[in-house]
Amino acid sequence: MTTVLDRREDPRSGSRLERHDVEAVNKKGHRELYASRQAIYPKRAHGRYRTVKWVVMAITLCVYYGLPFVRWHRGPDLPDQAVLLDIESNRFFVFFLEIWPQEFYFVTGLLVLAALLLFLLTSVAGRVWCGYACPQTVWTDLMIAVERIWQGDRNARIRLDKEPWGATKIFKKGMTHLSWLAIGLATGGALVFYFRDAPTLARELVTGTAPAAAYLFLGIFSFTTYLLGGIAREQVCTFMCPWPRIQGAMTDRHTLLVRYKPERGEPRGPLHKGPDGKADWSARGDCIDCKACVVVCPAGIDIRDGSQLECIQCALCIDACNDIMVKIGRPQGLVGYDTVAKQEAKAAGQYQSLRIIRPRTLLYAALIALVGAIMLLAWFNRSVLEISVLPDRTPPFVQLSDGSIRNSFTVKILNKLHEPRAFTLAAKELAGATLTVVGIDSSKSAQIVVPTDTLRELRVLVTVPVRDLTKLPDPSTPFTLAARDSVSGQETGRRTYFRKTNTSHAATGGRP
Ligand code: SF4
Ligand code: SF4
Repeated sequence: MTTVLDRREDPRSGSRLERHDVEAVNKKGHRELYASRQAIYPKRAHGRYRTVKWVVMAITLCVYYGLPFVRWHRGPDLPDQAVLLDIESNRFFVFFLEIWPQEFYFVTGLLVLAALLLFLLTSVAGRVWCGYACPQTVWTDLMIAVERIWQGDRNARIRLDKEPWGATKIFKKGMTHLSWLAIGLATGGALVFYFRDAPTLARELVTGTAPAAAYLFLGIFSFTTYLLGGIAREQVCTFMCPWPRIQGAMTDRHTLLVRYKPERGEPRGPLHKGPDGKADWSARGDCIDCKACVVVCPAGIDIRDGSQLECIQCALCIDACNDIMVKIGRPQGLVGYDTVAKQEAKAAGQYQSLRIIRPRTLLYAALIALVGAIMLLAWFNRSVLEISVLPDRTPPFVQLSDGSIRNSFTVKILNKLHEPRAFTLAAKELAGATLTVVGIDSSKSAQIVVPTDTLRELRVLVTVPVRDLTKLPDPSTPFTLAARDSVSGQETGRRTYFRKTNTSHAATGGRP
């Protein structure tokens, strides 16, 4: 099999190469569906955007590793971890928020809000999320930095890869992979800390007493981080992540993107100085075709070819080109953040201002405000008491020896307050009904204590005496089973049915 490479230049060697349009052709001349990866050796960049990326990396990693160890006092009998995805008790704790399974719509709302924020950010400034804060970018950046420590910068790494295997190469490659695995291990560790009390789990992991699931997920997360950040790198962004394909729908001619300015850079060519040591810039552009912007690119592309799917908008090519511009005495910004509209206007000799406020961004902002308002409203009207009622179906009713009819229910009362509460249970709008709770002494109503932040399940019997059965005209009579807070008076109830014959619409069996 041979690989046809054309149109673009290999960032490593300068030979002609088109990475994302590679055609693999076998000996019979048929196109292959698979083309092997072209290795990329990003050179270290220096400059404003590189610094911003280091700072963002430091902040995001500190937040990621530190957050599980932040404490948040919620009262007795409750976890004091600020962010805890408590699978055992089916609850998410996020600082002052406590989300029960019944309230999972809050999580959905938060995800919708995050997606809309990403849409807004993308419509204003393209893939800034990908370029600066996406975990894949941050970890790939970290892995490349570690690789540089062991194997040197771009040229040294290219040389090392060409060298035959020997002790030095094995040592450098081995240490690189071990370091990646150590980073992966730390990452996996940090993620499992979000699911269990972090200081306790840290002790358990070290002493070998953690649950088997913790070790299993530690292994899975460690390996995937090593694989995605160390080995797969830019291929995750180009081939696995759907976002590069979707984000095109959010950008337009006014979106800020990392762009090469051909109107200033072309015609490009090597820099030739005259006998006086000065270059003649009169009949040429500012691009000296040095490829400094190409060799720093973690995606291995040439920004001068225009917007490309592989470009994660990391802006390292801006830093690299600015460096060159300073060295050759030309103005910085040949590669920089710009919009298509501004570039087109400039080429036509006109001026176009940056338009951040436009219908698309206004729409996203309005949707963010709407979803945010709905969530706030839902949160402030959130009930701290919930009740669910499930009637027995086999049998749906029982006729007692005195002729009265009894229905049984499974009732669950959820006390979301961080203090114990006493409730009174009652069957409302049901003539002559008496209510008893199995295991609790009661007469007309029952006093139920539900401990702090707990779901209590009860077996409830509702009985209608024979003298009142005639007041129930239908085989199945609707009524409300209500729980009332004995102190605050807060009441919540569920509509259900009392059945007295088998002709009930919901009857599933039983004998009168
Ligand atoms: S072309 Fe520039 S902005 Fe795009 S990925 Fe490469 S270095 Fe980053
Ligand atoms: S770094 Fe600047 S001058 Fe050098 S090739 Fe890239 S765009 Fe041209």
